[in-house]
Amino acid sequence: MEYELKIKRRPSHRVMIGHVAVGGDAPVVVQSMTNTDTADVESTVQQVFDLWQAGSEIVRITVNSPEAAAQVGNIRERLDAIGCNVPLVGDFHYNGHKLLMQYPDCAKALAKYRINPGNVGKGSKRDEQFAAMIEAAIQYDKPVRIGVNWGSLDQAKMVRMMDENALRPDPMPSDALMREALIQSALESAQQAEALGLASDRIIISCKVSAVQDLLTVYRDLAARCDYALHLGLTEAGMGSKGIVASTAALSLLLQEGIGDTIRVSLTPEPNEPRTKEVVVAQEILQTMGIRSFTPLVTACPGCGRTTSTFFQELAQKIQRYLREQMPVWRKQYPGVESMSVAVMGCVVNGPGESKLANIGISLPGTGEIPVAPVFVDGEKTVTLKGDAIAEEFQAIVEGYVQENYAEGGKLRQEYTAVSEPKIIPIRAI
Ligand code: SF4
Repeated sequence: MEYELKIKRRPSHRVMIGHVAVGGDAPVVVQSMTNTDTADVESTVQQVFDLWQAGSEIVRITVNSPEAAAQVGNIRERLDAIGCNVPLVGDFHYNGHKLLMQYPDCAKALAKYRINPGNVGKGSKRDEQFAAMIEAAIQYDKPVRIGVNWGSLDQAKMVRMMDENALRPDPMPSDALMREALIQSALESAQQAEALGLASDRIIISCKVSAVQDLLTVYRDLAARCDYALHLGLTEAGMGSKGIVASTAALSLLLQEGIGDTIRVSLTPEPNEPRTKEVVVAQEILQTMGIRSFTPLVTACPGCGRTTSTFFQELAQKIQRYLREQMPVWRKQYPGVESMSVAVMGCVVNGPGESKLANIGISLPGTGEIPVAPVFVDGEKTVTLKGDAIAEEFQAIVEGYVQENYAEGGKLRQEYTAVSEPKIIPIRAI
């Protein structure tokens, strides 16, 4: 689908996280975080690999102990050996200054250090330990994220601000004061890092909160007060549909305003749910908004009294799963395929119309209709499927369409190469 987005990205510095650019004129980057014990190399390598295969462009790992720090270089080597070059970010709290000094292989292997100003140290130690982390970033030529979080706000700063606020003739309400404290904590820490010699294009900022309206207010304010690249995410979004809806509501509004250079969706996985779900949700937010394309999406109707069997739901699910599973290979083989659209519709009411609008669509028979399923390719009816193998035959048609149109010399590949991503990525005025 081609159209011009009406989103004007907020100007920001371009920061390189390994080979991945964040901010400036780079597309909005999807990132994720592992939940394995980093000292457990096997599990961490596997999960980083899975997140990368799902499309995560940056992966953060916890570096919370000497055991974890000691394995980071090993994890990097193991990932490189299996062709996974995703940049790793180290998430540090409390002891990051020590770990970065004591484990140089860890400091070198990471592509970015995440520093939480509220968890760096207390009292006079705070500035010293923060400086040690920034000095490590300068020494190893790494960017940092100054990542402030509602739940771990610098308490000394908060108390100071509350005292000052109480003396004002027009004190701020407590929630506004908290938001201001978050922003100040991030910006002052970033300025401190610059004063220590870290360039502004080596700094990313985040100020995460868990309520949608607070996040909107904080990020709008933060975006207006600095030109650092911004990492955007709703912290502790929650489980299942609540987590997805809350993240989507918050992130999409800010992205529409051009705010956010990299996103993470902080979902709590349900039991047995793959960690990769957060990557899928982040991609789908960007793709359904028309900001970036990652994987062909299936348009499916919700079904109604005209679809009394589950066949069409199963087909829609099967095709979406199939398309996503192909993407690690297709991404390299068939450039542009991520923009392909597929429709799976439940009956004749909207089926043919919606199917004609997609690259490929199938209109399944509803209750009482003749049990045949017309297939539309580029708006034209090409074949009518029937019998027990409709799903397999439709999948084969999709596969054939991809090969014909997105392989070397294919029509849609040529169009994609001519237009490329800038057409669907908003132009940024710097
Ligand atoms: S396309 Fe048909 S089956 Fe699907 S929701 Fe509309 S009427 Fe119901």
